[in-house]
Formats: sequence, structure tokens, C-alpha cells
Amino acid sequence: MDTCLVCKSKLKEMRISRVQEYNGQWFLIENLPALVCRQCGEIYYTPETHDLVLELVRAGKQPIRTETLSVLDASAA
Ligand SMILES: [Zn+2]
Repeated sequence: MDTCLVCKSKLKEMRISRVQEYNGQWFLIENLPALVCRQCGEIYYTPETHDLVLELVRAGKQPIRTETLSVLDASAA
């Protein structure tokens, strides 16, 4: 895939950060390969990247560091 499904613009291979929930715990995954639309910013993952995300969160490895996450509520918006 090299074109955006939303706006038909060209996609660019980039390394991005993504948050992923697994078993009630949230993980921040950095340097994840993704295809990003240059026009609208839509993000696409290959099946390989999807597998990689699951592999990383399931592995239970020691995190490289721990961050504090700010939680926002959109229910009153
Ligand atoms: Zn797009």
C-alpha cells in the first residue's frame, strides 16, 4: 500500500510512537514502523507491524523506562 485510503495522497515510511492496551495495562511503543499520510496524517500499519506490537506487549520484557501518563475525559466535551 502506498496511497492513503482517506485522501489518496502518498504514504511515507516513518517510525512513530503508539500506545497499546494489553490485559488492562497501557504500553507506549516507540520507534514503531508505520506508513503515514503526508497530507492528512492517517497512520497505517502492516500486518508485520501489528504482529510486532502484540509480540512486544505479550513478551513481558523490562521497559526501557517508565513514563507518567495524563488521562483526559472527553465525556463532557
Ligand atoms: Zn491521507
